[in-house]
Amino acid sequence: TIGMITIDKSGHIAGGTSTNGAIHKVPGRVGDSPIPGSGVYVDKHIGGAAATGDGDVMMRFMPALLAVELMRNGLAPDKAAETALRQIASYYSNFMGAVVAVTISGEYGAACHGFDKFPYSVVNSELKTVTVMNVPCF
Ligand code: ASP
Repeated sequence: TIGMITIDKSGHIAGGTSTNGAIHKVPGRVGDSPIPGSGVYVDKHIGGAAATGDGDVMMRFMPALLAVELMRNGLAPDKAAETALRQIASYYSNFMGAVVAVTISGEYGAACHGFDKFPYSVVNSELKTVTVMNVPCF
């Protein structure tokens, strides 16, 4: 899955996903990626989040929506992403997944569960060029 959140210099925010689906996917499966709140979610006042991983598990928890709502309540993006994933892990300890999150002011972060580390790409006016960040998974 490619999940993307963009914010332009006027503060317009958009999110999108593109996915080839999970391994062993059954014909007709939709999965989590195109479901608002599950694969991606944005709120123009707060920020956005996108998720990747075991979609059949993750879509039950709406992790992108939850991460945005946690940022609404003041959590930093990395903590919001981690908290959304911890909720899933409390029910499905073996799931693999990651969430990226960004506030409307451009603060960003990510978290992952079930594997070693998660690379994600960021570009902004400070970085100037697309930069790969790595976050260790819990
Ligand atoms: N979440 C996607 C799915 O389950 C797979 C992925 O993120 O790579 O369809």
